[in-house]
Amino acid sequence: MIATALVALAAALPLSGTTVHVDAGHNGANGSHPSQINRQVPAGTGGYRKACDTTGTQTDDGRLTEARLTLDVARRLQRRLERLGARVVMTRTTNDGVGPCVDERAAIGNRARADLALSIHADGGPPGGRGFHVIAPLAARAVRPAIVAPSLRFARGLRARLDGVGLRRSTYIGGGAGLVQRSDLGGLNLSRVPKAFVELANMRNAADARLLRRTRDRDRIALALARAVTRALAP
Ligand SMILES: [Zn+2]
Repeated sequence: MIATALVALAAALPLSGTTVHVDAGHNGANGSHPSQINRQVPAGTGGYRKACDTTGTQTDDGRLTEARLTLDVARRLQRRLERLGARVVMTRTTNDGVGPCVDERAAIGNRARADLALSIHADGGPPGGRGFHVIAPLAARAVRPAIVAPSLRFARGLRARLDGVGLRRSTYIGGGAGLVQRSDLGGLNLSRVPKAFVELANMRNAADARLLRRTRDRDRIALALARAVTRALAP
């Protein structure tokens, strides 16, 4: 009786049966392991290679690093998606490790046969610039060009949901579109599952940095991301 009720409950959750890869950008110990982080790894077709990973950016006062922020938002998103019934595969659950490299980040989503993958970052843009932007792949260096169209749809959904919770679009990249397509990101080029990156805000801008420090705003961001995933997987 109880088992039947649980099965019925699980079936009623909108993301039941789906798998989502949540990729928190960078890692807390990247900066102290330059040789590991700077080594070149595969990052796309045609022999394209890039550094394993980077340290990421931080607020100007040094109190908040991108690696710590992205993990916190990733965890908030994980909790929301799991409550909606998704299986969530996390690249990392701590902030004291190194990497993984961009090729491994893509491989994690591929191995999980994720229905969607989302890589969470925050930008280190010009101090006068504000706002979020979403990044979708291009076919040029993609190992599986078939993911480009669904990834772009997902990226547009992310933009709509971030708009919907009142976040502003980037004032310094994307010409007000809040969305760009790039072929220089290994995490996108090597993905065999639909995937997008989000740059939540500009950590080098004082107003954006204040926003990113507030837990209620991080929750608002996680809500928008969860809504975009739900819209993409359970329309
Ligand atoms: Zn980043």
